[in-house]
Amino acid sequence: MVRLPEARGACAAKIEKVGKRREAPGGFDVIGEGAAQLPLWSEQDAGWSVRESRRARRMVVRVFHSGRVEVVVPVKTPPGLVQTFLERHRLWIERKRAEARRTAVTPEHFPPQRIDLAACAEQWQVHLAGGSGRLRIDAGGGLIRISGDSGSSQALRPVLRGLLLQRARGALEPALAACAQEFGFQYSRMVIRRQRTRWGSCSVSGTISLNACLLFVPPAVVRYLLIHELAHTRHMNHSRRFWQCVASCCPEYRRLDQALSEGWRSVPAWVFGDAAP
Ligand SMILES: [Zn+2]
Repeated sequence: MVRLPEARGACAAKIEKVGKRREAPGGFDVIGEGAAQLPLWSEQDAGWSVRESRRARRMVVRVFHSGRVEVVVPVKTPPGLVQTFLERHRLWIERKRAEARRTAVTPEHFPPQRIDLAACAEQWQVHLAGGSGRLRIDAGGGLIRISGDSGSSQALRPVLRGLLLQRARGALEPALAACAQEFGFQYSRMVIRRQRTRWGSCSVSGTISLNACLLFVPPAVVRYLLIHELAHTRHMNHSRRFWQCVASCCPEYRRLDQALSEGWRSVPAWVFGDAAP
């Protein structure tokens, strides 16, 4: 399995176990949907929040690609413990925030005028033909022509996502089959998903699941991921033998694995729909 740092999610996280728990007088003031401000930090520094979670067993601080920092803590964690935790990781947090500022992406326009599918060297032009009434889509020959009332991105998003899944199936299925044949791997079937957290996975029954977002990364990186998942049909772990198997098919796997972990940058926001309008 190769995990994907959420397309627009956390770029990094630090986790720490909460020690012996004490009742905290007051705790945090919960605002909104379980989000709370951490007084000491949030005063000078916007974009901080502390969230109590019933499921959390450890304290986690995440730095999102937007630079936002979120601390998730088990219920009733004493504020002092959270402060200590944050102080301990302050340099790390500052470094990650600086990285986020450097690599900040500008907000996207939706619908996009162009969709770049690096994996299959295709560019789709998106043409809004206007008109009213029901939304109509004609796709083909690198052009997506949208007519009718396209004012609602709510309606348009699922259409683009549907086209993406369809293209991913068409492009990745033969690529996976060819790769399996080239190196003598066997898998039972392939499924395409649109996922925030994984580029791909392989089940014990030999089902290989691939993320449609792979269409946005270069062919060599896709090929590495295919080999990685196929190698799991022989080794269901990330042991030394697994990596030896990957290396024998793809000597450049280290560089490509790194490129894959940065691949989220090429995934447009509309694929998940939480950043674009
Ligand atoms: Zn893996």
